[in-house]
Amino acid sequence: MIRNKCVICAHDKLTTVAEFKNFPVFMGTVSRPDVDFRYNDLILVECTRCKTTQVLDLVPLALLYQTNHNVDIVGDTWKRHNAAFARFVAEVNPRNVLEVGDPSFKIASLLIDVIESWCVVEPNISDNVLQSGKIRYIRKWFEDVGLDDFENIDCVVLSHVFEHLYSPRDFLNKCSSIADTIIISVPNMDCMLESGALPSINFEHTFFLNDQNLKIMLQDCGYYIESCEFFENHSVFYKIKKTYNAGNVIVNIITSYYAEVARINNLSSSYDYVYLYGANFPAQMLIALGLDDTRIVGILDNSKSKIGNYLYGTKHMVFHPTEIAGKDNCLVICKMGVYDKEIKNNLLNINDKVVVI
Ligand SMILES: [Zn+2]
Repeated sequence: MIRNKCVICAHDKLTTVAEFKNFPVFMGTVSRPDVDFRYNDLILVECTRCKTTQVLDLVPLALLYQTNHNVDIVGDTWKRHNAAFARFVAEVNPRNVLEVGDPSFKIASLLIDVIESWCVVEPNISDNVLQSGKIRYIRKWFEDVGLDDFENIDCVVLSHVFEHLYSPRDFLNKCSSIADTIIISVPNMDCMLESGALPSINFEHTFFLNDQNLKIMLQDCGYYIESCEFFENHSVFYKIKKTYNAGNVIVNIITSYYAEVARINNLSSSYDYVYLYGANFPAQMLIALGLDDTRIVGILDNSKSKIGNYLYGTKHMVFHPTEIAGKDNCLVICKMGVYDKEIKNNLLNINDKVVVI
């Protein structure tokens, strides 16, 4: 599969920077030397926009991960890493976790006592998995699992898996329908470059990843880095959150006001005097949302310069709030946000029988 867009920013101009003919496709071991080894050209390209180095020609996943070589915990560094990452995950107090790509529940086993459920999506599940009623596994690639399989997930966890994804942007987009929080541990690739170690861009780690290009991708996909932590010079842990979308909240509030206006219309028919508070935008907006203004006898406002005028776009005259003094069965519609409480108190001082909604 040839990459035709940048893995990070989706730009379509990629230029070749290095090429290795016939590179072994699998980085594990086999029991005999006479098997039919498979090779692929390892072509490194650079995005002309975000400058990310990445592999052009991707090896089919079934060939690449023909047996899992991430089953055993190899060495003390990984033990310390897993303990530190489990602590980092625990900081968000997750109840129901979805983990992608851990064949032997290495992180889950450290958090089993504090979670309610842990679901692992991984095609090559180890035979000796942790047995617990809290753990379930789905023996598939994450891309092949429907959203219905994930309910009430608090966070998605990936330990040294994100950098293996062929389409991390697609992954993030799918995650946004599953949970607001993603917690990843990835190799500290900046550190590797600084040390002069062989760059870890290969058929498994198919793109260079650091703070800068992760941020580009996250911003594009509606996420941001809430916090990060270095584990020695080995890994970086990132807590990734969905970006707050004011647009959605605004639409939800407007929708809720349609119901509120219908309620007010019902209610106002039982009052003899109905006033609308504030000779400005909120009153105009309530009318635009369908407020039945045929029952409104006037607008109340404290501003001396407005009294005696008409609210623009309406036939309603503006009165000082003292207009309600002594009036029985009086309703004031007041939707002035942070001022509501203060206005209501003032109106009750003028007329303690007034109903303010
Ligand atoms: Zn790019």
